[in-house]
Amino acid sequence: MIIVLEHDIRPEDKRALTAFLEGKGFRVREIQGEQETVLGAVGIVPIDVRQVELQPGVARVIPITQPFKQASREFKKEDTCIPVGPVKIGGLRIVVIAGPCSVESREQILECARLVRDSGASLLRGGAYKPRTSPYAFQGLGEEGLRYLKEAGEATGLPVVSEIVSPEHADMFRELVDVLQIGARNMQNFELLKRVGALGKPVLLKRGQAATIQELLMSAEYLLAHGTEAVILCERGIRTFETYTRNTLDLSAIPVVKKLSHLPILVDPSHGTGIREKVPPMALAAVAAGADGLIVEVHANPEAALSDGPQSLYPDQFEKLMRDIEVLAPVLGKEVARLPERPAPRRTAAGRTADELTVGFQGERGAFSENALLRYFPDGAAGVPFAEFRDVFESVLTGKVRYGIVPVENTLTGSIHQNYDLLLQYPDLRIVGEKIIRIVHHLIGLPGASVQEIRRVYSHPQALSQCARFLERFPGWEKVPFYDTAGAVAFIAREGRRENAAIASLEAAQAHRLNVLKEGIETSSQNYTRFVIIAREEAAAVQQPTKASLVFATANTPGSLFQALRVLSERNINMVKLESRPILGKPWEELFYLDVSIPETEEAFRLALEELKRVTEGLRVLGLYRA
Ligand code: PEP
Ligand code: MN
Repeated sequence: MIIVLEHDIRPEDKRALTAFLEGKGFRVREIQGEQETVLGAVGIVPIDVRQVELQPGVARVIPITQPFKQASREFKKEDTCIPVGPVKIGGLRIVVIAGPCSVESREQILECARLVRDSGASLLRGGAYKPRTSPYAFQGLGEEGLRYLKEAGEATGLPVVSEIVSPEHADMFRELVDVLQIGARNMQNFELLKRVGALGKPVLLKRGQAATIQELLMSAEYLLAHGTEAVILCERGIRTFETYTRNTLDLSAIPVVKKLSHLPILVDPSHGTGIREKVPPMALAAVAAGADGLIVEVHANPEAALSDGPQSLYPDQFEKLMRDIEVLAPVLGKEVARLPERPAPRRTAAGRTADELTVGFQGERGAFSENALLRYFPDGAAGVPFAEFRDVFESVLTGKVRYGIVPVENTLTGSIHQNYDLLLQYPDLRIVGEKIIRIVHHLIGLPGASVQEIRRVYSHPQALSQCARFLERFPGWEKVPFYDTAGAVAFIAREGRRENAAIASLEAAQAHRLNVLKEGIETSSQNYTRFVIIAREEAAAVQQPTKASLVFATANTPGSLFQALRVLSERNINMVKLESRPILGKPWEELFYLDVSIPETEEAFRLALEELKRVTEGLRVLGLYRA
């Protein structure tokens, strides 16, 4: 049953309630929900719910109607997110586990680990104990194989996944692997489930070849009931009358499981189809259907594989699949989970060390973003240019750069919505700082050229419009919209024609050794752009933050936004910005982005966040930083 607590329950009443339930033989777990705090209690002894409702501090009791209790959505509304080393599984992430069916040798698994890691996998698979149909088929290298797998994982930074087939091996697996896989054939090996659940480590539970979704969830319940909270489900195809594929990959299980359970679900298109060429299309379909990720068999030389060669992808195929998933992810509003690149203190061609302070920005050298980052990091930072805003986010996530900087609003033209959307799509990144700079535009030309010679002026459309009053004085000039201000400077530098000019920053002129023909030509002196600095969550702790960026949705009922803002007002928390954006895939439903000042007493802020969580939906803190 779910016991919803009163908002202001006293700690001693909560303790007494827990003791009361445990005394009746219940296992009790506290769950901090979005709307309320609840206790989940699971037991085998029947109890009269009225008896529980009468306990002090209890608001109401909801029986869990499903036979799987802790695995059910009734038990926990929010999606469960499972950390495995530096990777998180579940939530708005797509995680890809890849590797050979079996560990065959030390060299084979090391080679495969490097290969899948370079293509963007974030966990490594490899079987050491293989449940084979024939006793004469390769049975796996056993403990030796697990040791090679662990070594390959450590060499590449990839957490490792391997199948356990016997409770006797539990201690060995606890030591050697990050995620224990329960194979399809063992989904209902209850003694194995109990022993593995009790280890408390993450478990990848595969659906049995002839198991219903309910049976899969009941097996998950075994694991949860025996101690682990980290269960990842996996659809890997079921036995049907069809013979063209090894199994029938039941993708409809994904939305069904998503509705019934809070646990993440992956899909195994390799065992699901049994045929290499069918793997990529089914992998993409699984992601489109809402899977939290994939487990895929990849082999450096599938023809020589000791097991499941025909369904193992060639390295090139896997790389292509990863690129396709990257294209699909934003459509679903998700991030492809990435391992952070480990800092190797090696010098690159540019003479840079990888642990140097690198900051990604969008645009060409001399862009206003680069300008802003140099001012934010006054002790020096190496700006790294990227073509798209998304590339900046991606490069921070993969660790190609330590930080990123992106504009979020301009005083004259408003918000840069794409970056708000990206902040939402990259749940593993956080805002760690902000910088506001004044935008001053200059007319830039070739060395020696004069204003009289100019016939054509190139710049970003926004910059052209921000200099409209100046440009009106030259009705004969052709105004050419360009993708980027600094890019326009690079262009006229390349063209080398004295009649061409560009509008951009002083730094852009300097970067390309061009001259400023006329300084400060923007119409309004009130032209400011606010940039935010982003980092991976692990690197995002800021001392004594003064500002927070939040995002949430509200119920579609009268006054729901007012309820949220009232929380801030009652706690005397100053809101400095409010922006609304349609929810991706749900036109006319809005997300609210809020910037607030963090009050002196951090406690007041923490309480406000807790209360906001209750009156809103899906509250997320995008960052805590110093304004
Ligand atoms: C495997 O992942 O190698 C495997 C044997 O899978 P399944 O248990 O789904 O057949
Ligand atoms: Mn296999």
